[in-house]
Amino acid sequence: MILLNPGPVNLSDRVRKALLNPDLCHREVEFSQLQTRIRQQLLQVYNLPQEHWTAVLLTGSGTAAIEAMITSLVPRDGKLLVIENGVYGERISKIAQIHGIESIKLHHSWGDEINLQELVKLLTQNPDISHLAVVHHETTTGRLNNLSHLATICREHQIQLLVDGVSSFGAEELNFDAWGITACAGTANKCLHGIPGTAFVILRRNALPGKDTIPRTLYLDLGSYCQQQDLGGTPFTQSVQSFYALAEALQEFAEGGGWQTRHKYYSQLANFVRDGLLAMGIKPLLPLGSSSVVLHAYYLPEGVSYEQFHDYLKAQGYVIYAGQGNLARSIFRVSTMGAITHADMERFLGAVKLIGKLG
Ligand SMILES: *Cc1c(COP(=O)(O)O)cnc(C)c1O
Repeated sequence: MILLNPGPVNLSDRVRKALLNPDLCHREVEFSQLQTRIRQQLLQVYNLPQEHWTAVLLTGSGTAAIEAMITSLVPRDGKLLVIENGVYGERISKIAQIHGIESIKLHHSWGDEINLQELVKLLTQNPDISHLAVVHHETTTGRLNNLSHLATICREHQIQLLVDGVSSFGAEELNFDAWGITACAGTANKCLHGIPGTAFVILRRNALPGKDTIPRTLYLDLGSYCQQQDLGGTPFTQSVQSFYALAEALQEFAEGGGWQTRHKYYSQLANFVRDGLLAMGIKPLLPLGSSSVVLHAYYLPEGVSYEQFHDYLKAQGYVIYAGQGNLARSIFRVSTMGAITHADMERFLGAVKLIGKLG
């Protein structure tokens, strides 16, 4: 089955084989070495020096890393501004609400570009804002939010930028220094091609809460994770097999040429699919150049329901992904992450062409 959903992704053979490595206790030196290696590999993805940056590993899905980032890094006297232009931005607002973090939102319709004038206005009206949270690649619609524009604004207003990079880390440019990023949450099972179970936050060491800070949560406290991981330990049991897979996936990633190569490869596949679907009259949701290379959203062909389309393609060996909320009945999404080939996507287009004839 070819997975065209935005994670979990199809695994390469070498990553799948890594899952069969020996059973391991998370209190043994072998685990400690594995964990340290992954933390280094993650920093290397965007060439971040270890003196200033750290990668904290968590067992959970991408949302765990985002919740850990928001709850650990926005202090009790801080105030968060959340940019919403899709499901995942709205999820960050929910996290803030649930944890009683003072927050306001800059809301947009799903898929809309960030309104920078409104952003500046909000920041000027609320000089007590300390942190800005934004989704880099809004998987809801495929829109890639422009972080470099935000960087300038954050710098002027002296606020810290927290990024949900869950569906962009490893495949899109993330210029941590130039864009003034304080922290970025990611996951093993999207653009890095590992399995679900491990998530992480890359953060500036000086953004960690002080030792005397009482954390908002026990399980998602980045401070204690970082402290113990620096000593080779872990506060709680980690998903050992998922670590094996991630270490191998990161090795494969580096050998392949890093994020730039992955970006180029995804881009080729995405453009191939986009051109092929356009030729059949299937139109993309966003204008050219607004989407990430990771995922594109398309309007369903006329007269075909998502369920019909999905079930037909699944029978041909392809899992596409539905739209969320109000978009559920009008769009479908195609992600070209994971160990998939040009030939896979050629067959996919062939299958879509046939349903056009059936419909
Ligand atoms: C996938 C995704 C998440 C996390 O989803 P999980 O189901 O928790 O892995 C968060 N943000 C974005 C932008 C995503 O694409």
